[in-house]
Amino acid sequence: MKTAQINEIFDSIQGEGPYIGYRQLFIRFCGCNINCAYCDTEFKTGTVYTTDELVNKINTYDLKAIHSISLTGGEPLIHYEFLKEFLPRAGKKIYLETNGTMSRALEETAENIDIISMDIKLDSAAKIGDIFLKHENFIKTARKYEKELFAKIVFDEKIQDFEINESIRLAQNYEIPLILQPRMDGNSIAVSTDFIEQTVKKFTARYPDTRLIGQVHKFFNIR
Ligand code: SF4
Repeated sequence: MKTAQINEIFDSIQGEGPYIGYRQLFIRFCGCNINCAYCDTEFKTGTVYTTDELVNKINTYDLKAIHSISLTGGEPLIHYEFLKEFLPRAGKKIYLETNGTMSRALEETAENIDIISMDIKLDSAAKIGDIFLKHENFIKTARKYEKELFAKIVFDEKIQDFEINESIRLAQNYEIPLILQPRMDGNSIAVSTDFIEQTVKKFTARYPDTRLIGQVHKFFNIR
């Protein structure tokens, strides 16, 4: 039986993107394949679960009351072998939060994933090279399995025009809703109002299926 290290499991409200406000059971997996400059998530330490143990654990929550199980991290897809065992037994809709770079791991697990919230990482923040090519391969895999997919772009004043151009190209080619999310510094928005407005206009002028959505859980002070 496979195992995975999990940082935390908690029942809360989705605070980002188009599913904002839905109650979800969050499973935060340890580890990530990239190292973003703005990452403020604690995902390095945790408890090792077998598939059976995780199935038992999630059944201690009121699953009837939640919209879906959110796989978050870190990068959940680095645990794709574990997910292949766990997901068919989860018994709820699966919402994957991913950095959108692990297309082969998605290929292995897509059958049991319902909604994909992927990040479009900016070169200026992720610095892993060929990031847009990795995103494109990931999106192609999601499309092959006809999965619901939207893309979130966390931005600040460092966003470059070529990053905007590449993000719009991907969105246009694959008809992906874009969510612009200003970077936060703790519970404060780390981007000026003027810059946010300019950035929204740059995107919407060329790609109207773009929305500005902040992290509402931080305003409500819920996790
Ligand atoms: S992909 Fe997400 S979890 Fe990984 S380093 Fe970047 S922000 Fe942190």
